[in-house]
Amino acid sequence: MTGNTHEFQAEVAKLLHIVTHSLYSEKEIFLRELVSNSSDACDRLRYAALTAPELTKDDPDFRVVVLLDKEAGTLTIDDNGIGMTEQEMIENLGTIARSGTSNFMSELTGDAAKDLSIIGQFGVGFYSSFMVADKVTVTSRKAGEGDAFTWSSDGQGAFTIDPAERDARGTTIVLHLKDEAEEYLDDFRVRSVIKTYADHIALPVILKKAGEEGDGDTINTASALWTRPKSEITEEQYTEFYHHVGQAFDTPWMTLHSRVEGVIEYSLLLFIPEQPPFDLFNTERRSSLKLYVKRVFITDECEELVPAYLRFLKGVVDSEDLPLNVSREMLQNNPVLMKIKSGLVKKVIGELEKRARKDTDGFAKFWDNFGAVLKEGIYEDADNGERILKLSLFNTTADEKRSTLADYVARMKEDQEAIYYITGDDLEALRQSPQLEGFRAKGIEVLLLSDPVDSFWLSRHDAFDGKPFKSVTRGSAELDKMKDVDGKDETDKDKEETPNLSLLIASFKQSLEGKVKDVRSSSRLTDSPVCLVADEGDMDIHLEKVLKAHKQFQGEASQRILEINPDHPLIRKLADKADQEGSAGRMGDAALLLLDQAHIVEGEPIADPVSFSKRMADFMTASL
Ligand code: ADP
Repeated sequence: MTGNTHEFQAEVAKLLHIVTHSLYSEKEIFLRELVSNSSDACDRLRYAALTAPELTKDDPDFRVVVLLDKEAGTLTIDDNGIGMTEQEMIENLGTIARSGTSNFMSELTGDAAKDLSIIGQFGVGFYSSFMVADKVTVTSRKAGEGDAFTWSSDGQGAFTIDPAERDARGTTIVLHLKDEAEEYLDDFRVRSVIKTYADHIALPVILKKAGEEGDGDTINTASALWTRPKSEITEEQYTEFYHHVGQAFDTPWMTLHSRVEGVIEYSLLLFIPEQPPFDLFNTERRSSLKLYVKRVFITDECEELVPAYLRFLKGVVDSEDLPLNVSREMLQNNPVLMKIKSGLVKKVIGELEKRARKDTDGFAKFWDNFGAVLKEGIYEDADNGERILKLSLFNTTADEKRSTLADYVARMKEDQEAIYYITGDDLEALRQSPQLEGFRAKGIEVLLLSDPVDSFWLSRHDAFDGKPFKSVTRGSAELDKMKDVDGKDETDKDKEETPNLSLLIASFKQSLEGKVKDVRSSSRLTDSPVCLVADEGDMDIHLEKVLKAHKQFQGEASQRILEINPDHPLIRKLADKADQEGSAGRMGDAALLLLDQAHIVEGEPIADPVSFSKRMADFMTASL
């Protein structure tokens, strides 16, 4: 190769390899990607020209031209958008710029089918050109600058950049089509592809044939989709627009198109994806809605437009009230924007409520994807948290299916006063928690909360529908008061007293002095000998762990209470021996072993593993 040669970033080379040995059955999407890039480039220049009108003065009408040249075997896409400098070409067309994407690339396996589904999540953008072309040149001149450059590559590991001639701003992409892609030289075929994929694009897309007189035909409707009446928009058009605006490839799970009129006026065209994006839980929690003012694109980085807990929304907000020359700084604490945001949130939640009522299964799918994110709103949104809580679905001990709180409350037992829950990191481990045994035995349902955010919202909301939330790992369980599954009171049962129980407890307390807050008999256990709980006034065990991990809680962890199960054979045997002479050492070892066991069940490390295993060995030796 001649000129200034650059290697592709390793991830791009890998991606190009996959793209060229092509997997995509729908090769035609390359046109969508390129027209979409051109339209974005025009949008960006339109915005820049608000403050620097000289940038577009010579050629104010934005358009994209697709030129077919049968003789040369090329398809050309030309725009008069913002263009790229040499450096921008190196960065944009040699690396994968979108954040998180290169991490994602490392997951590619080489297995075509799997890789395709991974790639499908972030798209290949410009690189899709190489599905149909064996050589691509990009000639670009940045608006406001004199120099132009040509980027050129065969998609095989390197590209060159050379100075070029170009009369005006913008970008021209020439695809030298592969033999098997010659259908994209056919006027009819290309027309229909553009109509399908680019109809919603708000500037004219013009088709021309080489050697033909005239300006060519404008193929698309060329008016912003969200300004058209709903009744005139087909589902396919919405989906195509979603692909364009959301850089997505799935079908939207929900489409919300609405025009708000009144004190402030704005249009919304919002989508909730069917598939979760790969960077949903990234720490930046950025939204990707696009803000327009009177049809002019302003920014897609407007944190003020939508709360972080709705960051899965894609789409467009178009305001009639913001000034066109609004700067990014002006967007902060802007009262118009705040009103739009509050209206948007209410609309989205309202729509979710409707879907939850009408289509339980569909809503459950949404919840699988985005529930953990939406739940952040229970904690963060003082105005709407309660509504989100109502919408939320929870795993419970009662059913494999998740349940709303209202359904839980409807199933509560007659004498049950609280909504019981247990929090932890892992759903399956939660199901096995010893603290649940007594609740299970009494047929009392417990919520299994395994998302990190659960601990946070619980700190904001202490009740639902007048029923307090209560952790099963905190306080003394009121289980004694409640009826058994068979309807009997605890008092009815001819409960065998465990003789010497109080002696055993006293001896345990002595041995565990300084290690636990208290030792007491438990009614929450049926199968396990012991468990740890937090005292009534102390913080829930798991919450304390989560807050520590998020550095929101400093200081000593509070001490726990060790509860022992008086009906467990081991505890009974120990109690039997508690009054025997010379048993003190044995009792002390048993107490320490049981405490370590309780920590293990909580998924916590044990304080002194060496002593633990020595004690364990001694105990086993003695019993054999
Ligand atoms: P994406 O569009 O998802 O960012 P692409 O690979 O399609 O990814 O494009 C990479 C970048 O190259 C774009 O973000 C844009 O900055 C730049 N780019 C692509 N096409 C054009 C164009 N026609 N005019 C100006 N810049 C462009």
